[in-house]
Amino acid sequence: MSFTTRFAPSPTGHLHIGHAFSAWTAFRAACEAEGRFILRMEDIDTVRCKREFEPVILDDLIWLGLDWEEPVRRQSEHFDDYARVLERLEALGVIYRCFKTRREIMEDIARAPHEVGEVYRGPLEPMSVDEEASRMAAGEAFAWRLSLARCRDLLGPRFSAMRYIEDGAGEQTANPDPLGDVILARKDVGTSYHIAVVHDDALQGISHVIRGEDLRAMTPLHVLLQTLLDLPTPVYRHHRLLLDENGERFAKRNKSVTLKSLRESGVSPDEVRSRFAT
Ligand code: GLU
Repeated sequence: MSFTTRFAPSPTGHLHIGHAFSAWTAFRAACEAEGRFILRMEDIDTVRCKREFEPVILDDLIWLGLDWEEPVRRQSEHFDDYARVLERLEALGVIYRCFKTRREIMEDIARAPHEVGEVYRGPLEPMSVDEEASRMAAGEAFAWRLSLARCRDLLGPRFSAMRYIEDGAGEQTANPDPLGDVILARKDVGTSYHIAVVHDDALQGISHVIRGEDLRAMTPLHVLLQTLLDLPTPVYRHHRLLLDENGERFAKRNKSVTLKSLRESGVSPDEVRSRFAT
């Protein structure tokens, strides 16, 4: 298997040291494996993502010593691809329209006190065709949710047999149950990070997904989508998150740790990279 990995920033601001660590980890892994390194702009959130951040991100990464294959895929140019994925999931019967407001969802969750966090388990009964049609006709907002119950029915024994390889830790069970019925699209935004990332990792032949451990919890959902869509499951490596001197994660809003401000203040790429060891 040839080694291909990627760094997939969302241009919602300038990159900080934590992003640099992630990008460098993926880039070094590709170099060591004599594989390919791909850069992808994950900019489906057209409100929060801004084009003006992109050239700064590219300059930051070049300064850090990275290079990548051209052209860079920009997800906002491929909404049609993601719409087709959603159509396939609809045809499989594994997604449903959820018209509940955030408040109604919170009330449902409060009725199930054993749940941790904001996990939505889906309706007890599917909405009737008539009710759905009338709410659609009324122009009500809705979210497309992935029904774990329907996935389980469709996949049968394959559902509990889903596995993936975590690099360095071996085979893992991919159990999406703790996530509940996740939102995969909204009426106005016909996709989500989950659909776009799973589609693009397969399209771009990503053999190794290298990303922060904050996304580890989502990997079982991504493996489920790959199973439903007959896509290969890459190897995953979830790296530790780089923390600042207070043990906090770096944040884009903290200007002092952006790569742009560091390089403008005369810090060298070597000095930035030396912080990756801490
Ligand atoms: N776009 C995501 C982020 O900026 C990364 C997604 C991924 O690596 O799977 O956090």
